[in-house]
Order: sequence, then structure tokens, then C-alpha cells
Amino acid sequence: MTSGPTRALPPLDTAPRIDRLRTALDGAGCDALVVTNLTNVRYLTGFTGSAGLLIVTAADAVLITDGRYETQVVEQVTSSGAPVTVEITTNEQRQVASRAIGSLARVGLEAHSVSWAQQRNYQEWFEQSELIATDLLVEVLRATKDAGELARIEAAAAIADAALGAIRRRLLDGPTEAEFGLELDTEMRRLGASGSAFETIIASGPNSAKAHHRPSTRRVRAGDFVIIDFGAVVEGYRSDMTRTVVVGEPSAQQQRVYDAVAGAQAAGVAAVIDGIAAKEVDRACRDYITERGWGDRFVHGTGHGVGLDIHEAPWVNTRTTATLQAGHVVTVEPGVYLPDFGGVRVEDTVIVTPSGCRPLTHTAKDPVVA
Ligand code: ZN
Ligand code: ZN
Repeated sequence: MTSGPTRALPPLDTAPRIDRLRTALDGAGCDALVVTNLTNVRYLTGFTGSAGLLIVTAADAVLITDGRYETQVVEQVTSSGAPVTVEITTNEQRQVASRAIGSLARVGLEAHSVSWAQQRNYQEWFEQSELIATDLLVEVLRATKDAGELARIEAAAAIADAALGAIRRRLLDGPTEAEFGLELDTEMRRLGASGSAFETIIASGPNSAKAHHRPSTRRVRAGDFVIIDFGAVVEGYRSDMTRTVVVGEPSAQQQRVYDAVAGAQAAGVAAVIDGIAAKEVDRACRDYITERGWGDRFVHGTGHGVGLDIHEAPWVNTRTTATLQAGHVVTVEPGVYLPDFGGVRVEDTVIVTPSGCRPLTHTAKDPVVA
């Protein structure tokens, strides 16, 4: 389906990305990079196949994949305009890759996505070269989104908002967590998503005290907290939003926990601006919750980047050294989890701007479904 929120998306600006990577490669002291992370291959070339390898040198970029993708790879690379040479081979990947590298001295591998066994293989493939472990070179480029990417994430977020709006009141009928999750996933597909951004989390009653509960056969009941954490995918780009609701009237203690988390989340969103250290956003959320006595029950980081992957750079937590920059897309999602009582998480996905941020997820933060 191409109707509704996904209509008329601006084109992705894929072609200049390989040159940007070449600049980063220079900085890392490499003559070439062997790109094996398939999300990175997609980002740099537009190719979405499940197997492939991109070799980027100063002079060339060679995309190697097998016969299953013969037609698809040419279509996608032509459409993206990525300046790559396509090589189709099922049995001679090693020879093609070795030829592309030749006698280059320093060949980068993506340390975060190459196994020990693969690294040993590549040493045989590129026997004249020294292999260099590189650290998230493409991921750093991916963190700053261009207009086409932002439009897709925004479209995904709009689908998620509309889907929850359409089915939210069905919580009153006492569905199981799994049933409600399936309805949400189905509604997002109906509205034009190609899929769910990750396995939808529906956590009700005591299950809401588990930060990453998987939907179960437990039925939603009056008086439950229900954490709903989900997102849509549009042309590979994801959205991420959490709302927590109470079916019926919240108790006084539920309202206190809810207000602590919602207040912390608002404080975190208010802290986001171009140039701020990401850990300061985490601190804004954490201080708010700590002042209300639940600091030790906020058991995860405050947020993460979102794009082609649901979790990507930059990270927003206590340990990060990242600085948020205009064009980054991050989540702000504090939570408080009280065993045997329940938990609350509230999450928005926002675009960092020079004057603050612009939220992409718009569902009202009204805790009551009645
Ligand atoms: Zn989420
Ligand atoms: Zn998230």
C-alpha cells in the first residue's frame, strides 16, 4: 500500500554517502573498508538483499552478492544512484574481493559485525594487507539523517500514532496481551507499514514491572498498568513509541508513579538540543525520578538513536560520550518498574534541532483508558 502517510516521500540521498565514508576512512588510517553489516550496505548502496559485501577503496566501490539477487541488486543500485560496481558471483567471492583490494596496505573491517572466524577468513582473502578493526564508521554517518530519511521515520511514527488511536479502546474488552499486540501490528500494516519496527511489547498488570516483557496470554484487566511499546517500518526506517495506560481509574500510587515518569520524560525532551552531551539528557530524566524516590527503579538508559535499525547511535545513557547534533533522531524513554506492583514507561522519538527538538510521536500522554 502506498496510500496514507507513506505517500509522496522525498527520495533518499544515497549517492553521496560513499564519498563521506571515504573521508572517514582517511581519518581512520585505512585504504579500504570491507562493509559486511547489511544495514550499512543498504545505507551506502540501497541494496536490501540478505547477503552481500561492499568494498570501498579511494578509487572504487564494489558490491558483491550472489545469483539470487542478480535482478534486484541492479534495480536498487540504479535507483539509488550509488556509485558502485556490481559483481554477481556465488562461488568466487574471494577472488572478486581479493582483486578489489589488490595490494592495499591497510584494510578496515567492521569490528562490531565481524566474527573471529570471519576475521581469520578475511586474513586469507587479503593476504598482502594488514587488517584494521574499525569502530562504527558507517554507523556514525547514519546517525545524522537527511530529509528523505526523516520523512520515512516521520511517516512510520504517524502510522504508529494512527494505529494505536484506532484500537486503543479495545483494551476495555479484556484482550490478552498477545491479542492486543497482534491487533496493533495488523493495524500498522493496514495503514501502510511494511512491518513492525521490533517485536511489539504489551505488558499488563504485574508484567509491566518487566521492562522488556514479551506479550503473553495474560488478559488485560481493570486497574492494570499496560505498557505499549511499538513502532512501524516505512521503507526500512523505523519509529519507536511507548505509552502506558491504566484501564479504568488509576490508584493514587499509580498516578504518582505515572507522574514521576511522565515528568521525567518531559524534562528529558526539554533538555534535547543540538550540541548537548547525550548523557545530560539522561541526567535530566534520572534526576527527576531520583528526586521522587525511584532512582534505583529506573533500570535502563534513557534512549537511543532510531533509523534503519531500531537501536543505533547515538546512545542516551549515563556512560555515553556522544553529543547530540541537529539531524539526529533519538528516543527519550525513562521508566520506573516496581516488582509486584507494575511499571510505567513513556517514550517519544524526536528529531534534534538547533533550537531544541521536534517530537515525531504524537499520541496523547493520557494514562486513562475508560
Ligand atoms: Zn520503544
Ligand atoms: Zn526505544
